[in-house]
Amino acid sequence: MKGFWICIFLLSTVAARTQTPLPNEKKPISIRWLGHAAFEIVSPGGTQLLIDPFLTKNPATPAEYKDLSRYHPSHILVTHSHRDHLGDAVELAKLSKAKLVSVIMLDTFVTKGGLPPDQVESINVGDQITAGDVKIHVVPAMHSSEPSGRPVGYVLEFSDGRTLYDEGDTWIFGDMSLIQEFYHPNIILMGCGPPGHGDYVRAAWLAVNRYFKPQVVIPMHYGAFPGSASEADIRAVVGNDSRVKFMKPGERREF
Ligand SMILES: [Zn+2]
Repeated sequence: MKGFWICIFLLSTVAARTQTPLPNEKKPISIRWLGHAAFEIVSPGGTQLLIDPFLTKNPATPAEYKDLSRYHPSHILVTHSHRDHLGDAVELAKLSKAKLVSVIMLDTFVTKGGLPPDQVESINVGDQITAGDVKIHVVPAMHSSEPSGRPVGYVLEFSDGRTLYDEGDTWIFGDMSLIQEFYHPNIILMGCGPPGHGDYVRAAWLAVNRYFKPQVVIPMHYGAFPGSASEADIRAVVGNDSRVKFMKPGERREF
């Protein structure tokens, strides 16, 4: 009889564990690559973020992910004003009422885009904003941003202490060592450069190894346009490094 009650006790303990995560149990960071530089990130606490949502005209985005009504982000982060990054940001902000975070001139969104000014979060390098359980740090990038603003990257700091660095569009630069010193990214979304510039992949990989100590590196900004780097081109540079996780557009992974 005593054995029976011990058995019931153990079963109920197991049931409780499967229902309620322990306080120190890590919840995953969900990352969906939407093709090119577009990502949907869901934090361990459920905060939904879109980064560089170039979707409807993105040749790499699967058809089902071009439907803008499927997204419900709290914030939309844009790294610079090039169309392969700004993409559908304004339309998505209108549909979802998400806050649009950007270094781009307010005019682009308010006067021309028709968004209410308080839906746009104007930021600059060094700024930090909060989105649900995520702290978003704005870091520099070495690129251009015609017709307005300047290029940036973002470091997302999650409640469990882990960080994700979206490089945006950038060449390698020495101040990446400061991004490591400040934020020590665990996950890096590694930009593989514009079409027709093979050195970009080598530069991006050199940056990862010279300045950072990530556990996960996800290549991005490749495979969408003619002349862009292919997965094979990138594999030729990164070898069989197990930290590098190649994703397919539309694919979601948890880390
Ligand atoms: Zn780009």
